Amino acid sequence: MHARFTGIVLFVRPHRENDGLVKIFTQEYGTKMFFVRGLNRPNNLLKSQLLPLTENDYVGIINDEGLSFLNEGITRTFFHQVQLDIVRQAFGVYFSQLVDASLEDNLPNPAVYELLTRCLQALESGVQPEIVTAFLEIHLLPAFGTGLYWGSCVICQSTLEPYDMSIRKMGLLCSRHFSQDEFRLRIHPRAMHVVNLLAQVSIEQIESIQLKPETLEEVRRLMDEIYQEFVGIRLKSRHYLDQLAKMEVSIAGISWKKSPENKD
Ligand SMILES: [Zn+2]
Repeated sequence: MHARFTGIVLFVRPHRENDGLVKIFTQEYGTKMFFVRGLNRPNNLLKSQLLPLTENDYVGIINDEGLSFLNEGITRTFFHQVQLDIVRQAFGVYFSQLVDASLEDNLPNPAVYELLTRCLQALESGVQPEIVTAFLEIHLLPAFGTGLYWGSCVICQSTLEPYDMSIRKMGLLCSRHFSQDEFRLRIHPRAMHVVNLLAQVSIEQIESIQLKPETLEEVRRLMDEIYQEFVGIRLKSRHYLDQLAKMEVSIAGISWKKSPENKD
């Protein structure tokens, strides 16, 4: 079927000598694999519309199953900072892999499409990438088939903080009900506060939040626990981000030691 559609490029994979397979999350038809002849040829007119993490308008042939084809493309959003900044790009790659893992191919999912677009926009506009990541992970949980209880204590609906997270009760516990789960995650109240907020607001409302490294680390621990328990996938790009985070910590340590003000 000949169609006009909009989509975000998730990844590109070389295929045979000169061709490529491009996975695009289309707004209208869900995630689809496209066959591109002569992917790396200099005269490939679709070059910039085949870059991962760009959003484009296309004309092509959509097949219900198997491979689809592209004829024309025009850039809708390029996300320059995400393309240029290696750290933001690494986060973007994780976003695309996680979204891809959460979706069944060939089924439209406008809610997740909008979620990914907004998260890429937030990454582009300089929101702390770790915060955007937690936002995406929380809001992708329903696509992975999990609903956690946010906003108040899962036992008594109290909105009085501090909260902790109970994997067993699948939601928040207020301090009066900490005893309901001896394996509660013992997450720092500040990180719990932030994640509970992320679960309930739109991403535009959190653009100005700036978290300290120790809070970000605790948010990461919480999200890792939740994903390990309810999603159970471990993506390469997640592993790469964890390596990056470790590197940042050790670089910060080195510069602290070398700084003359910190001499003994
Ligand atoms: Zn309670």
